[in-house]
Amino acid sequence: MSLVPGSTIGIIGGGQLGRMLAMAAARLGYRTIVLEPQVDCPAAQVANRQIVAAYDNPAALAELAAASAVVTYEFENVPVAAAETLATKVAVYPPARALEVAQDRVIEKHFLNGIGIPTAEFCPIDNDEQLTAALKKFSGSGVLKTRRMGYDGKGQRVFRNMETGGFAGTCEAMGNVPLILESLVAFEREISVIAARGIDASIAAYDPAENVHREGILRSSTLPAAIRPDTAAAAKKAAAKILSALDYVGVVGVEFFVLADGSLLANELAPRVHNSGHWTEAACLVSQFEQHIRAVAGLPLGAPSRHCDCVMENLIGDDMLQVPALLAEPDLMLHLYGKAESRPGRKMGHFTRISRRA
Ligand code: AMP
Repeated sequence: MSLVPGSTIGIIGGGQLGRMLAMAAARLGYRTIVLEPQVDCPAAQVANRQIVAAYDNPAALAELAAASAVVTYEFENVPVAAAETLATKVAVYPPARALEVAQDRVIEKHFLNGIGIPTAEFCPIDNDEQLTAALKKFSGSGVLKTRRMGYDGKGQRVFRNMETGGFAGTCEAMGNVPLILESLVAFEREISVIAARGIDASIAAYDPAENVHREGILRSSTLPAAIRPDTAAAAKKAAAKILSALDYVGVVGVEFFVLADGSLLANELAPRVHNSGHWTEAACLVSQFEQHIRAVAGLPLGAPSRHCDCVMENLIGDDMLQVPALLAEPDLMLHLYGKAESRPGRKMGHFTRISRRA
């Protein structure tokens, strides 16, 4: 059963992803209610209503459940217990299991490897001795990351060709939280696949985007990615496998490293719409945001085909100064997030340049 127009979709999280979901929901005739502690957040500016409260506030969650026909979320750190409690009162998509998997890099890698999707080698790390031993195993190179709550390269440290030993104090400097050491992947490029699964188990995957990160933050996504057709097909197949294994409903973003021989290692999955899918709003009839709303509302998924090639770039901090010049370009779609204050490293908006096709 699909949601009738006029129904309300609850969104946990009030950032730019929630904002773009709310806009897509409005275009399909739905109302939205956002749960977010920050007043006047980007999503609340375009939603019908905001509940101003913490994501795990029981009274706020009960209010959200009572006001919504279905609840979704725009970030992966929604407390699993909150999603599970909510799910006893209202349909919650994607399922709480997807949160559980995506919130912990060790659980995520076990899950991916368990369904036959290769990742970088990894070791859970809880102290400096374990770090020293793991670095030795990885020949002195690796990426040390927090297991939980990491995003945009935050909470990461790279080791390159270092002698093993002498890492006293590293775990403390990382905050004495559970860590993971991944082998340092010599990738040729990075790609991501945005894919969706409907309530009827149908799957639609957009073509892989080629992504460039700087300081751990996504800078650009280019379509098409410079990869072989069989690599693109393998990435889509892996995304579909993840969706089915999680009995997922909604959009997922899956990031991969592409190795020199064209093979793939999955890096991480995001159980939500993803920055590397923003290009879909300019180059596809059905964007990732509409696709997610269609999925959680029980509507048929849209075709993921692309009507033009494109490059999406993020506007970060002072990049906002480029806005007047960008708007003067003919084949460019701009999207700003309504954030009053620009700070270094803060995502303020994005734009997509399309290459016209006749
Ligand atoms: P993540 O937070 O895992 O998405 O990492 C942010 C970025 O750091 C990735 O997009 C890569 O550019 C780089 N990176 C992360 N993990 C590795 C790894 N194991 N080997 C090489 N580069 C990595």
